[in-house]
Amino acid sequence: MSAAREKIGTRRQFLAGGALLGTGMVSPLLGAEAESQTGAVLNSDRPDAPYELARPENTIYSACLQCNTGCGIKCKLQDGVVTKIDGNPYSPWTLLPHLPYATAVDDANPVDGAICPKGQAGLQTAYDPYRIRKVLKRAGRRGQNKWITIPFEQAIREICDGGLLFKDIPGEQTRHVEGIRSLMTLTDDRLAKAMDADIKAIWEAREPEQKKALVEAFKQKYAEHLDKLIDPDHPDLGPKNNQIVVAWGRLKDGRGDLYKRFAAAMGTVNAHGHTTVCQGSLYFTCKAISEQYVGGKFTDGQKFYWMADTENSRFILFVGANLFEANYGPPNRTVRLTNNLVSGRTRIAVVDPRFSKLASKAWKWLPIKPGTDGALAMAIIRWMLDEQRYDARFLSCANKAAAIAAGESSWTNATWLVACRNGQPGKFVRASDVKIDGVPLTQPTTRQTPDG
Ligand code: SF4
Repeated sequence: MSAAREKIGTRRQFLAGGALLGTGMVSPLLGAEAESQTGAVLNSDRPDAPYELARPENTIYSACLQCNTGCGIKCKLQDGVVTKIDGNPYSPWTLLPHLPYATAVDDANPVDGAICPKGQAGLQTAYDPYRIRKVLKRAGRRGQNKWITIPFEQAIREICDGGLLFKDIPGEQTRHVEGIRSLMTLTDDRLAKAMDADIKAIWEAREPEQKKALVEAFKQKYAEHLDKLIDPDHPDLGPKNNQIVVAWGRLKDGRGDLYKRFAAAMGTVNAHGHTTVCQGSLYFTCKAISEQYVGGKFTDGQKFYWMADTENSRFILFVGANLFEANYGPPNRTVRLTNNLVSGRTRIAVVDPRFSKLASKAWKWLPIKPGTDGALAMAIIRWMLDEQRYDARFLSCANKAAAIAAGESSWTNATWLVACRNGQPGKFVRASDVKIDGVPLTQPTTRQTPDG
């Protein structure tokens, strides 16, 4: 039995003893006194007071969506209302080490994992009295902040069909609002595919005259359907359906797919999630840095949320990252760093104009001026080169064979030459690019690989 479980048992035994004392063995007066004493214990913060919220039947396990990390949580209910949120003790994200998955729910329930303050604020999100739960329709001029609630059915009808939707608002009595239905001009799948193929041919044409001729041919071929296009002189803009934009936030775990299906059903290519403009840059950077040089080209990179191994690092330079407050999950990442900071195993330096919580724990805090990050990075690189503060042995391992010979576990392309044309860096230099007395060192090949 776990210590937490024993504690619960003690509390229950205490309660059972109190109930027995109050009902059968003493006078009614004494019983009332005992009952009131028990009530006092129940409502007190004495260590032996029962913690009702720790009961499995008062707990719902879920996932926090207060940020993109999606920590495992347990919601503690009292009379059906969530009154406290804590970390799911089965989750390695919120408890280190987490409970074995075979742990019985009854035993696991008194154990709480940790979540961050944003996660704790999930209560306010769920029960915010101002949370919008009905469709609001503008009932005054723009900026007047006047709204009425309307049924969902009416909202869907008005959004689809349009009409004189604001006829009661001065100045908008005759303004006709276009509905989505009128934008869904192209609904014939075969026609859409045929147009798509011809538009691709227009895209691929290199000469302006050739493009012009193809556009004219397109207009003749689809003369009956030109009213379906945004601009017949620019078929590449596609059908009017593309004027419908479906934009959503960060919706993972299948919800984004529902939006994509919705957009596809509308026939628009304009479906944009949050990740399209934010995390996409991270994914593609990680894809690029994880690509391998195989058969003469880089390939097979993974679009993954690559993260530094802060738990096993000896020195970390944080630039604009604030691990204790955000940075893809304080509950998971903080605990993996704090012990090492306390023991002195890891030292951190923080570059941030603001004295953040992380900066308060740093060996060095560098409050640079906003916008000077690039200059700082160049200065660090310059200093490393000038002071030769780099791992020359590792950097000299340009392929797997060299790494094995040097006793290194990995290798790097840092020392490969890069061809520069017109001052712009291009591809890595191949031996076949290098000529001596006009003769290439080797013939071009796609079979050579750097891994020996
Ligand atoms: S990091 Fe905090 S806000 Fe984000 S999911 Fe975890 S507990 Fe919730």
